[in-house]
Amino acid sequence: MDIEKIIQQLKDKNPQEQEFIQAATEVLEHIAPVLEKKPEYREQKIVERMLEPERVISFRVSWQDDNGEVQVNRGYRVQMNSALGPYKGGLRFSPSVKQGELKFLAFEQTLKNALTGLPLGAGKGGSDFDPKGKSDAEVMRFCQAFMAELYRHIGSRLDVPAGDMGVGAREIGYLFGAYKKLQNSYEGAITGKGVGWGGSQMRTEATGYGLIYFAQQMLKKADSNIEGKTCLVSGAGNVAQYCIEKLIQLGAKVLTVSDSSGFIYDKEGIDEEKLAYIKELKNKKRGRIKEYAEKFDAEYTEVDKEAKENPIWNIKADLAFPCATQNEVQEKDAENLKNNGIILIAEGANMPLTAEATEIVEKSDILYAPGKASNAGGVAVSGIEMMQNYLGSYWTAEEVDQRLKSIICSIHDRCLKAAEEWGFPKNYAAGANISGFIQVADAMLAQGIV
Ligand code: NDP
Repeated sequence: MDIEKIIQQLKDKNPQEQEFIQAATEVLEHIAPVLEKKPEYREQKIVERMLEPERVISFRVSWQDDNGEVQVNRGYRVQMNSALGPYKGGLRFSPSVKQGELKFLAFEQTLKNALTGLPLGAGKGGSDFDPKGKSDAEVMRFCQAFMAELYRHIGSRLDVPAGDMGVGAREIGYLFGAYKKLQNSYEGAITGKGVGWGGSQMRTEATGYGLIYFAQQMLKKADSNIEGKTCLVSGAGNVAQYCIEKLIQLGAKVLTVSDSSGFIYDKEGIDEEKLAYIKELKNKKRGRIKEYAEKFDAEYTEVDKEAKENPIWNIKADLAFPCATQNEVQEKDAENLKNNGIILIAEGANMPLTAEATEIVEKSDILYAPGKASNAGGVAVSGIEMMQNYLGSYWTAEEVDQRLKSIICSIHDRCLKAAEEWGFPKNYAAGANISGFIQVADAMLAQGIV
């Protein structure tokens, strides 16, 4: 099989895009048997076409900070694949943002969106702008400058961005306000909008809640459940907050929470009051997680980003939910999790395990859910927000939650079925990659060489 040849071509074409190569390699290894059996995919170069974005837009974003100094950032939108519907995927504001990071995220999004069963193509965008330490006025001016270019490339039937790291409720508000003004039209070209001005109930909760619904399904299959389990959660942003909220509701004990500086180990467990404090601290005060330790008398450990392991993953617990960022769980961390008897790892973040960590986990008995399946709740409710915007009417939180649960259950079952069918029994990562790939590939075949 010429998988090695495709990977080599990918490396030659994108030498600086390490994360994109990592994400693509994992998928290619799993879809090899599909390519063997369906020569039409090879004849029509479906894989090569899927790995090349339909369009990449890169642009200058100039704005003025509070001191009147001119700042220059770079903005991007990667329009990856439109075989299943309008491009759909979040915007990330972080100094780490480069074209390769967005291509990896957009590629993952292609398969993730297919798994939801909704009519969604895939894209991803963002900027190397860091909202940390900026005033609200600076964030607003940046968002307006960013949208001054992006608005030409998006639209409710063309490309519908949402939030991601560094882009929360505040940023979505400013971005939507700028879009509406420039376009002179009130249309759902962005999701994650506030409830009351075009947003859907449950969009804020969707990724974290969906992650736990997915874990529930996996545990149910293994004759177990969430109640009474001890849990490790990383991150303190949107995904982590609602992952923790659902775990508390279901009777689990959450021991950890973290940010990019360090992590909290709270042996008593994070309860509703402490979670309310985390939300206030991170969403309003925009403070550091260290402050939690001072307030609730918990342990705080600073993390060395260059180290080969992170002690958060060496705490004994039953379930682990990495919800911060890509490659946050390294080889040694995976070994520690395994040696400490972790039962399940479900990814809230996109690709939080390095390739080496994934290999260790896949060879073990740990139940493992890849992000493209287990964090798909966010984009699913974004898809539901788009539907409500098209219809011009809105559903209750209970109705949206019910739809979210049903989509997550169907993704879970799809992954298991495809894994079984293609010779990877119980391997959710293989099942997700194969099932998502086949759906997009068949649509591309049907639509011809475009
Ligand atoms: P947020 O910006 O809301 O939160 C990110 C959190 O992760 C922050 O607490 C941040 O810390 C922390 N973090 C960032 N970098 C690191 C690092 N290197 N080490 C440890 N912690 C770090 O983002 P989201 O919660 O929205 O996104 C988190 C992950 O989930 C991303 O991988 C994203 O792509 C993925 N995702 C998000 C979806 C959504 O709906 N929001 C949907 C699907 C996936 P600090 O406060 O210091 O910045």
